[in-house]
Order: sequence, then structure tokens, then C-alpha cells
Amino acid sequence: MSFEKLGLSKPLLKAIQEQGYTKPTPIQAQAIPVILERKDILAGAQTGTGKTAGFTLPLLELLSRKQPHKGKHQIKALILTPTRELAAQVGESVRLYGKHLPFKSTVIFGGVKINPQITQLRKGVDIIIATPGRLLDHMSQKTVDLRHVDFLILDEADRMLDMGFINDIKKVLAVMPKDKQTLLFSATYSNEIKKLSNTLLKSPTLIEVARQNTASESVSQAVYHVDKTRKRELLTHLINEGKWSQVLVFTRTKHGANRLTTQLDKDGITAVAIHGNKSQNARTKALADFKKGDVRVLVATDIAARGIDIDQLPHVVNYELPNVSEDYVHRIGRTGRAGNKGEAISLVCVDEHEYLQNIEKLIKKDIPKVWLKGFKPDPSIKAEPIKQGGGGRGRGGNSRNKPRNKPSGNSSRNSSGRNKNR
Ligand code: AMP
Repeated sequence: MSFEKLGLSKPLLKAIQEQGYTKPTPIQAQAIPVILERKDILAGAQTGTGKTAGFTLPLLELLSRKQPHKGKHQIKALILTPTRELAAQVGESVRLYGKHLPFKSTVIFGGVKINPQITQLRKGVDIIIATPGRLLDHMSQKTVDLRHVDFLILDEADRMLDMGFINDIKKVLAVMPKDKQTLLFSATYSNEIKKLSNTLLKSPTLIEVARQNTASESVSQAVYHVDKTRKRELLTHLINEGKWSQVLVFTRTKHGANRLTTQLDKDGITAVAIHGNKSQNARTKALADFKKGDVRVLVATDIAARGIDIDQLPHVVNYELPNVSEDYVHRIGRTGRAGNKGEAISLVCVDEHEYLQNIEKLIKKDIPKVWLKGFKPDPSIKAEPIKQGGGGRGRGGNSRNKPRNKPSGNSSRNSSGRNKNR
């Protein structure tokens, strides 16, 4: 299968070639022809499968097949994403793939000034990529007009529901035309997703590439058993011994992310943290520095890391296991993407054995265990309950998988129940 055979026109084929893609990924091969037939789709695809190009390419193709562009820009496509980082990344993909086409796009998310976004919208755009919260702000200020939207794409819809965006999504839907084409992407098929797709999609074509909740084959996984108090030392050892130049490390809490970053710096390993208490600018800069290779370690909480796309990220470390097992699959999905090999290492102390069992049950396999010489756990240390709270996730909503954190206090939520600080 080649991109030419999928029915994409020259300006897109040129952009694809410039990206160095030689053939479509499975999700692209399946989704692109169906989307070009103007059908709704429900696609089960995780990040790392090439799903962004899977919807962006046919979207741009369909837009360019419509009436010739007469210099007037009207919002024809809306892409909704759960997080700011994902919105920025999808925005970047739209810009890259559409660089030889005349369409304008803009990214709309909170945490940054609204006025530059209003200016962009006034100038006229064809495609917007938005998080639901800020989009609603624009709707209430009447600075965005969604009455001509032909294409709606919900990216990582399961996360949007998890994060309590369902009412926001409904408000956005209410102002759009009924006869648009809708594409729904979700990593999991929960009952909530089924309900949403029933109300949203018209006879959708189902597309699924990787089985739900299976970890990618290209990621080698290992569990290192270690005492809690020695995790930092072990991490430093692994980074130094392996001469790792780029590693994404997950902690459960924002506080834990900050603390680890400081400790790694003291060990002479450059590190930066990314989490919901950081300003959007700080998060963008942290990610850029990490991508450039200026810092070796990016320490992240789950929400902040969601959707982060770093080409050929070789190492992911779970400094602490997530209490929501599905997050393990999402976390290790940051590596081994688009055919590259990756390594995911989890540092597990005695308190986390139950989390580990839940994860292995979910992925239906045993993760190889390592007891590294010099770091073997002290058998006299007994398990203690893991303290929750601290706002590592701070997302509201339903219960998909037990046990999970309680939403952390109310400091990061506004009166509409929407999370402000991810
Ligand atoms: P996504 O699942 O959309 O987050 O994409 C994951 C990664 O795959 C991104 O870094 C893309 O640039 C890359 N990618 C997307 N399509 C292809 C392709 N056909 N060939 C090689 N890499 C691709």
C-alpha cells in the first residue's frame, strides 16, 4: 500500500514525502479511504500509531476538493483534543501536512492570553484545533463561528470524557451543523465512548488497529524491584550506566516530579518537570528543551504527558507505577513509536505490588523482573498503603478502573467542574 493509492493529491503527497514517510501505517491505510468516502468513523487507535496523519491527511484532501478557495476563510473543520500539549501537536501536524495547501489553521487552548487567539480568528481560519474549555470561552465571547463546520474530529475522546469534558463537548456540538462528518478517535472502548458514539456518529465504520490495552510489541518492558528510598539512586545508575541521553520519567504526583527533578540535577543529570502546576509557557519550553536534547530527563505526571509526541524516544521509566492500570499502557506508548524500538522500565517497591498485579492482568502478560545487584530490596521492609492526593491527576469524572485517585481537592477546578490546571 502506498500513499498515492490512498487517493491523496499532489500537495499532500509532497508534504508526506518531506516528512520522510514511505508507506502508510495500518491506521492510515484503513482510515484514509473511508474518511475520503465521507463516512463517519469510530477508530480505536492509540498514540504512536500514526493516527494524527490518519485523520489530518484525508481532512485536508476533502477540504481541498471542495469549491476552489476564494480567499475567504471560514471554519470548516474542528479538531477537539483533551490537553493543550496534544492540541499543539495536532496543530503542528495540520501545519506540516498542509504546508502546500492554502488553508489556515489555528490552535486554541487555555493557559495563555486569549487576545492573540481572537486576532487569529478574526483574520479568518479554515481549521481550528482546540481544547474544549477555551473554545467555550470563545463561544461565549462570540469570537468563534462554528456554524459552517463540515468536519468534526474528536481526538483521544476517552480522555476527554475522563477529564469531565462531556458537557463542554455537548455545548460545542449544539452550535454546529447536523450534517457534518464526524471522526471519533479513542484508545479504549468504554461504555461512555459507546454512548457518545451512538449520539454523535451516523452509521460509523469501525476501525481498530491495535487491540485495546495491549502494549506495543516494539517496546521491551522490565520491572526493577527496588526499595522506595533507593529509586532515585537506581534511576541515576541506569541513566549513567546506559548512557541514556533522552528519557521520559513518570511520577504519580506533581510534588514528586519537582522533587525528583531537583535530585537528578544534584546528581549532575539535567532534568526538567512538566505538570499541571506549571504555566503553559514553562511546559512548552520544557518540552522543547527536552526534544532538542538540552535536558536529558523529562519528569512528567500522567495528564501532562498525555499525547506528548517525541520522535524516537528510546526510554520511558515509571518511577512510580500508576494506580490506574490503563495509564501504564499510555505511558509506555511514548516509546517504540512508528516502528522504532523502545524500552520501558518500571521501578517497583513493595508498596506497589498490587498495582503491578493489576497492570499485568490488564496487559495479559508477566513483565520480566530484574533484581539488580546492589539494589535488591530489603526483605524486612513491609508494604505500606500508598498515599493518594497531591493532585497528580486532578481529573474529575467516572470510574473506569479501580483503584484510582480521588479527584484532588478542588483547588484546580473552577465552578463549572472543569480542570483548569493540567
Ligand atoms: P501519532 O500516533 O499520530 O501520534 O504519530 C506517531 C508518530 O508517527 C509521529 O511522530 C509521526 O510523525 C509518525 N508517523 C505518522 N505517520 C507515519 C508514517 N506513515 N510513517 C512513518 N512515521 C509516521
